[in-house]
Amino acid sequence: MKLPAVALAASFCAGIALGLWCPGADQLSSSRVLWLLIACAVVGIAVSFALLRRGALFVSATASLAVWVVIGTLGAAIAQQPPPQDFVLRVLQEKHIDLQVPLGWRVQLTNEPLRLPWGWRYDLALRSVEFQGETLRISGGLRLNYAPRPEAASPPVVHIGDIFSLLAQARLPQTYRNPGTFDRRAYLAQQGIDLVATLRAPELIDPLQHARLTPSGRLILLRSKLRDEVDDLCAGLPDQAAVLRAMLLGDRSFIDRRESTDFQKTGVFHVLVVAGLHVAAFATFLFWVGRKLRFSVTGTSVSILLALAVYVALVEQRPPVLRASLMAAVVLVASCFFRRLDLLNSAAVAALILLVANPLELRDSSFQLSFLAMGCIGGLGVPWLDRTVQPYAKSLRGWADVTRDAAHAPKFAQFRIDLRGVVSWSSTLVPASMARTIPKMLGLIFRFWELLLLTLVLQIGMLPVLASDFHRITLSGPAVNLIAVPLTGLIVPLGFLALLAGLLWHPLGALAAMPLHWATALLLHTVHWFAHFSGSSYRIPAAPAWVILAFFASGILLAACLPYRSARARRLAFTFAAALVSTAVLVATYPFKPRWTPDRLELNALDVGQGDSLFLISPKGRTLLIDGGGAFAGFPGESGHNSPDPGEEAVSPYLWSRGFKRIDVVALTHAHQDHAGGLVAVLENFAVGALWVGPEVSAPVLQKLEEEARARGVPVVHQGGGEPFNWDGAQLQFLWPHSSDNANRSGATNDDSLVLHLRYGNRSVLLPGDVEQQSEREMLNEDALEDLRADVLKVGHHGSKNSTTQAFLSEVRPEIGIISVGEDNPYGHPSAELLSRLAEAHVRILRTDRDGAVQVTTDGRNLNVSCFVPCHDIFQTISVERPAPKDQQHDQQQ
Ligand SMILES: [Zn+2]
Ligand SMILES: [Zn+2]
Repeated sequence: MKLPAVALAASFCAGIALGLWCPGADQLSSSRVLWLLIACAVVGIAVSFALLRRGALFVSATASLAVWVVIGTLGAAIAQQPPPQDFVLRVLQEKHIDLQVPLGWRVQLTNEPLRLPWGWRYDLALRSVEFQGETLRISGGLRLNYAPRPEAASPPVVHIGDIFSLLAQARLPQTYRNPGTFDRRAYLAQQGIDLVATLRAPELIDPLQHARLTPSGRLILLRSKLRDEVDDLCAGLPDQAAVLRAMLLGDRSFIDRRESTDFQKTGVFHVLVVAGLHVAAFATFLFWVGRKLRFSVTGTSVSILLALAVYVALVEQRPPVLRASLMAAVVLVASCFFRRLDLLNSAAVAALILLVANPLELRDSSFQLSFLAMGCIGGLGVPWLDRTVQPYAKSLRGWADVTRDAAHAPKFAQFRIDLRGVVSWSSTLVPASMARTIPKMLGLIFRFWELLLLTLVLQIGMLPVLASDFHRITLSGPAVNLIAVPLTGLIVPLGFLALLAGLLWHPLGALAAMPLHWATALLLHTVHWFAHFSGSSYRIPAAPAWVILAFFASGILLAACLPYRSARARRLAFTFAAALVSTAVLVATYPFKPRWTPDRLELNALDVGQGDSLFLISPKGRTLLIDGGGAFAGFPGESGHNSPDPGEEAVSPYLWSRGFKRIDVVALTHAHQDHAGGLVAVLENFAVGALWVGPEVSAPVLQKLEEEARARGVPVVHQGGGEPFNWDGAQLQFLWPHSSDNANRSGATNDDSLVLHLRYGNRSVLLPGDVEQQSEREMLNEDALEDLRADVLKVGHHGSKNSTTQAFLSEVRPEIGIISVGEDNPYGHPSAELLSRLAEAHVRILRTDRDGAVQVTTDGRNLNVSCFVPCHDIFQTISVERPAPKDQQHDQQQ
């Protein structure tokens, strides 16, 4: 078998996948099943050995692959054992502690404190907690943020390994729970962070025990020294400092959202993640130095391995660089002890080592991306180069030496002869020394061509994963990579040279950093220049699973055909390449229809943290998005630039998950940040038919939104109280505000909110934005009280006690109340008073902070309710039939 390690790794992955994703697989960890699996593995090994001795090679190989599948399943089962008794989330779930108040924690620092643009971050391992006078042993991870106010004391001096006591109110990490939304909580849990907390004042930390410095602690100290050195070398150039911190040390915390979006738009975000490219640049540079200093190959390899180990320890976000270094190590070790290992086999060995150590890594999308990239390069890129440009590049070596022609195939020997002819002919026209640079130039062109082919292969190969994970298709990617990749190859070694020089003597570092600054500035200019073309990238839903499966199947089959040179293999390769390209086009254009049910009115209250976002679909498929949440700056240390944008991270992924590329109408109830902030991202990410806003008020967030709409040619329509109209099969009416009341006032208030009433058949929905009691009272005073009646009420103003008054509630008489509210919000929403008011009125309550996204659909008679977080104490379906009053039946017929 040509690729033994690849076959083993594939079987092992299949086994792990079986253990992770098959229904009922979570039962595997019970001890009886484990013993059964172990027995299967042992019998399998025995059988394959017996078969091998009898010469049945194929059957034996199949049996041993089957054993690897079983071992994979076994590994996944063992890795999924339930967490220990004292694990903090388990302790919380079993209600031994609660997080309503600040608690006294005993913690150990697991990393050096990280300086961030807004303050400091401490990653801590939990040891114990004081709760109601008792000390409980506890395990798990806590991330502590500290944002000092300008006049506040400097942060406490602590180092890795120190144990201290801490008084802080911890909470679960913020996440949005909607279909299609990235689960930030699970992602942080994978990194060992189960809770987050904010340090209110430095005095709340009390050091108990200083740790002795271990060798790994020393390396981490060196890392923070290097970070400071980067800042010193780039004094006055914050953009460069941020990018270099990321490219050299894997610390992306100083890169702001705009910068990282520009890198994503141009398809070069990977240069900000220390991974394969950086390791390759680092190792190649060291190898080159080793050869220049005339070290032996073994000596150079050993020094590179040592340097890579230090590099892995130094970098902040470790997994990608660990994977790349492991790959490099496998290649180096193999080249020392065995023959040259095939790239795919080396990658497979590295993957096997990582997966044996932790089978759950298979779930990690960064793991999948790393090995997918290796697969693309090894399976498609290298064979393609071998068939096209590589032999020509090889035949350039010693081109002037006639005696070496015989070592090349006739075609390439002829190429050498022609080349010498061209050189001698040109030396009659230009000086001979200039003519002799032709082969060098040609070599450079070949390198360039190689890079272009590899970039193309990578861009196409990663397409489905990038479309699924990041919902972005980048058209300028190959062009920008042609510049960014060589620049990275330059910046990494230059950067480490400058850092090293700077540590020795600062002026020397500043001198060494000059070329580094030029290269980094060129990189930033290139990225910004390409990013400002709006057509260079666009957003898209993830292709259906069958397309992605067909894509990878054609990719693997193509890779399998490429090494063979027969006419039949060539025909097959052509077929598979065509299949690959057509599925890639499907991924990149998403020609599929969005998913919705006809003849139902659908209302989705999305989980956008503290804020509102409602998505409606009419019975005939028109879409209306009301509000988009907004970056919530209420938690200290999470203000503005670093708090997640729910428009980008909750609303857009949800809409993509249902296959929408276009939204017919986007409406803003009122110009408050928690409703409007996220809509800018929605306008950027989707084709929008119209923007509905209330009466004109001057508020910066509204201005920004209207500017964005105008720039994209989206008409802005002012709405206000008026008559009901037919909205694509449903009846829609604006009950509030009356436009004359608030026109051209400065500053937005909750009472500006657009209030929408929708009716379909016998069922109706009332969406009052953030209106408070005054507007409610005025609405009640108006004549058409029947208009207010609704089966489903989006409870006003996130469940504040100043909205949804008793009088209002008794007119609306809802069956279901949906409260859109952020977990642990500092306003105390929803208020206990309001909750009891709703309970007295027998309203069944659904809350986005507890239930995640809430969906209500109706066919005009029955209401169906479901939530993203399944909660068994809440009904799933209501099917109450009520005859419609006569006037409603009349409306319905119209
Ligand atoms: Zn609000
Ligand atoms: Zn508001």
